[in-house]
Amino acid sequence: MIALDKPPLRDLARLRVFIRSMADLVEREQDEATLLNQGSELLSELISHDDWLPDAYAQPSPVRYRQYLLYADVRQKFSVVSFVWGPGQETPIHNHTVWGLIGQLRGKEVTQPFVLNEKGLPMLQGKPITMRAGDVSAVSPTIGDLHAVRNASASEVAISIHVYGGNIGTLQRSAISKTGEKKMFVSGYSNASIPNLWDAP
Ligand code: FE
Repeated sequence: MIALDKPPLRDLARLRVFIRSMADLVEREQDEATLLNQGSELLSELISHDDWLPDAYAQPSPVRYRQYLLYADVRQKFSVVSFVWGPGQETPIHNHTVWGLIGQLRGKEVTQPFVLNEKGLPMLQGKPITMRAGDVSAVSPTIGDLHAVRNASASEVAISIHVYGGNIGTLQRSAISKTGEKKMFVSGYSNASIPNLWDAP
């Protein structure tokens, strides 16, 4: 057999277990609050260890934050993405249109929730929340779907693992400027292929 020259993979067992559990959860649970609660526990377990994310999906770009697809459910019921932030990088104010769970794997991020007022202008909703390694938060059209996120550090990379109730890179959603202008976007993904979960080391 010819040995393929490819970079060593980290052990993806933790990610495999997480994805299997999430697939079971989205299959059986219709209630969003329960799904977010139980999904938070699963994500919390996944990010309590920082030894599984392959380096290829942890690379920052000097230009803008990256979104690497780790897994998309075949029926598009959920997707898992690693968000990699270079120092000081930030998102515009944006929505998701589906539920989302955010688990901090490495570094620190700050998320600021917003709501639109009657004129369509984004207003701060509460204080900014600092996410530290091990923290999990949630967004959804039901509980609040609008926020802006930034790397809390001007010198370190930050990485969070996101789970969404759809194939997030393919969904039409919006970014809102401070003056209320809405811009539709589809985020896509920074990688062209997904890791092969079954390629166990
Ligand atoms: Fe977001």
